[in-house]
Amino acid sequence: MPRPIEALIHPDALAHNLARARAQAPDARVWAVVKADAYGHGIQRVFDSLRSADGFALLDLAEAARLRALDWRGPILLLEGVFEPRDLELCSRLNLWHAVHHEQQIDWLSRHKTHQPHRVFLKMNSGMNRLGFAPTAFRSAWARLNALPQVDEISLMTHFSDADGPRGIAHQVAAFELATRDLPGERSLSNSAAVLRHMGPAAAGAGLASDWVRAGILTYGSAPDFPEHHSAHWGLQPAMTLRSRLIGLQALQPGDTVGYGSRYVASAPLRIGIVACGYADGYPRHAGSGTPVLVDGVRCATVGRVSMDMLAVDLTPVPAAQLGTEVTLWGNGPHGSRLPIDDVAQAAGTIGYELMCAVAPRVPVTVS
Ligand SMILES: *Cc1c(COP(=O)(O)O)cnc(C)c1O
Repeated sequence: MPRPIEALIHPDALAHNLARARAQAPDARVWAVVKADAYGHGIQRVFDSLRSADGFALLDLAEAARLRALDWRGPILLLEGVFEPRDLELCSRLNLWHAVHHEQQIDWLSRHKTHQPHRVFLKMNSGMNRLGFAPTAFRSAWARLNALPQVDEISLMTHFSDADGPRGIAHQVAAFELATRDLPGERSLSNSAAVLRHMGPAAAGAGLASDWVRAGILTYGSAPDFPEHHSAHWGLQPAMTLRSRLIGLQALQPGDTVGYGSRYVASAPLRIGIVACGYADGYPRHAGSGTPVLVDGVRCATVGRVSMDMLAVDLTPVPAAQLGTEVTLWGNGPHGSRLPIDDVAQAAGTIGYELMCAVAPRVPVTVS
């Protein structure tokens, strides 16, 4: 028998979550963002469930090639554009649309030999200060691109820094609109948080127009604005379950300690279970005592440090637990139970994005 840990990918949840993005932005086309191997879920594993998307957005050219190998003929967008001139050859060959966010990428395009002009997404830095042309430089970048025979259609995009928080998006939308007002082309502005918080019924009247929205984390069922809103609030379902089993049991007496560094000290007699899951599986080592875990679907708490291959759980809420009892680290558990990945991430001082991307290659994955 293999070690009992496994990850399950849930096709129905992926399709459901994508439909939620569509319902929020009914007039927009939806990019399913599948960078980082579909946020750790595996591009091949999510592809069938997401093929109703209008396109796939990612960063890595090899991942784009994998999508074409799956026979996806629709749009693919490289969110960071090309990294060196010869990447443009692959864009021509595989018909990849690509972001253009700095002058050098325009230089490379101007020297690129292609029979098929490219569709590009010109990116504005509207305040995040990561990628893109400043609003004052945007127009001249657009004019340069527009003059190139290598370029076909130019779309306009920007990215929000605070769509999930109190600062919001208004200042960036204003900067974008001011600098693009009389430029033609389709627009792409919203990430998951903007789709959920600034579009749809809740934002009625806010009028965030977008021809293409970029649905990332919501597709995978984590709330971008947790803990203000939980995934259930947004009607999202977990696309991944990480589960394992109890492989050890210990009866502690007061004063007994658990794990490396003796970070947990029992203050009363306590029954604990040892779970076959550790940081070498991608479980966060910084999840301290008290991190939620489901044992046979019942919410319990970890005790002590996470080690490479194991972690310990206080079994007080489930006296019937025994060797082999199912443990849900996140996602769907038995008897209709559920542990949102965001709850675990919060206990570990991180976000759902990081946990789902970090599931280790040694964890077997099945689609079910
Ligand atoms: C990753 C990414 C997204 C998706 O973000 P989510 O918060 O996961 O929805 C959208 N746009 C760009 C440019 C990105 O890099």
